[in-house]
Amino acid sequence: MRKNIAVIEGDGIGVEIIAQAVKVIKKIEQKFGHIFNLEYVEMGGCAIDKYGVALPDFSLEKCRAADAVLLGAVGGPKWDDPTAKVRPEQGLLGLRAGLECYANIRPAKVYKPLAEASPLKDSIISEGFDIVVVRELTGGIYFGESGREGDSAYDTERYSIPEIERIARIAFKIAQGRKKIVHSVDKANVLESSRLWRETVARVAKDYPDITVVNILVDNAAMQLVRNPSQFDVMLTSNIFGDILSDEASQITGSIGMLASASTGDGSRGLYEPIHGSAPDIAGKNIANPIATILSVAMMLDISFGLKEEAAAIDAAVNSVLEDGFRTADIATNGESPIGTTEMGSLICERI
Ligand code: NAD
Repeated sequence: MRKNIAVIEGDGIGVEIIAQAVKVIKKIEQKFGHIFNLEYVEMGGCAIDKYGVALPDFSLEKCRAADAVLLGAVGGPKWDDPTAKVRPEQGLLGLRAGLECYANIRPAKVYKPLAEASPLKDSIISEGFDIVVVRELTGGIYFGESGREGDSAYDTERYSIPEIERIARIAFKIAQGRKKIVHSVDKANVLESSRLWRETVARVAKDYPDITVVNILVDNAAMQLVRNPSQFDVMLTSNIFGDILSDEASQITGSIGMLASASTGDGSRGLYEPIHGSAPDIAGKNIANPIATILSVAMMLDISFGLKEEAAAIDAAVNSVLEDGFRTADIATNGESPIGTTEMGSLICERI
């Protein structure tokens, strides 16, 4: 297989973690006989310094021309002024919109060897925690009409039936490859947009008779996630609810440096990135955990390229390294002496 991958290092630890992910891509190329052409693209604070904008048009064009985009992270104290007109996150939003990625897929799982990193009690987490949050990414209150009038301010939650249908289909398809249960999260007791959400999800569900749909109010979902997380498998959510619940779910795993994500749309092209930021506090020290970015490569191979065996080889290599006790500093909780970013990348490559 021959594919083009746009690679965005970004800022902070972005450069270091992407270097490890690229090593993994090269290893997969070599072992499975594929050709992945990598094109490096500038975005984020580094692009602001050089071009005055976070996502120059030519960067977006290169990403649109690729089969998939792999992103490290953007931002840092230098560009963190919230009143600044040009900010690194504009690059992220511009990229998601420019690639028409309306579905954010975030797996959150507790790796057995890292179970002690979870802030939840053993008795709660012992049943296992392995869920996928499917979040609508380009609609809802973050994109609705907003403004100020006199001494008040407003934001509008608005969803159309086609927007709900397409994200629901993605959740149902993911559920078909998992435990065949979807918890659809809403606030239908209060919000009209949630009532439309619930009706639409129920209608789409008729096309997926093998899937069980459970409607759950967002406040209850937030509570149940820490009370009894193993009841969940796929959670389908609107933009704002997914933003909050996916962060909650990621904290249950206890290791932000381990979690990957994918953003996809109608075609096979997708944007793959770790859920963490650019971690300026540890940048340039060779201590960042590259696993979230490496697992983002696995998601890219699986979702955009359909290379399931290759994706599974990466997952298995990560598991094997963890089982043998190798840890970067962020996940070294049992007094293990931590290994560096590059060493972790090399070990995972060796085991693929
Ligand atoms: P962060 O995720 O960068 O860091 C939070 C904490 O987790 C820090 O202590 C950091 O050292 C640690 N951490 C994060 N990733 C790690 C890794 N791979 N290995 C080990 N430790 C890791 O969040 P923040 O501190 O709130 O934000 C820092 C910058 O990143 C800000 O400028 C923010 O705007 C930006 N940011 C970017 C993205 C993105 O690019 N998608 C997402 C979130 C934040």
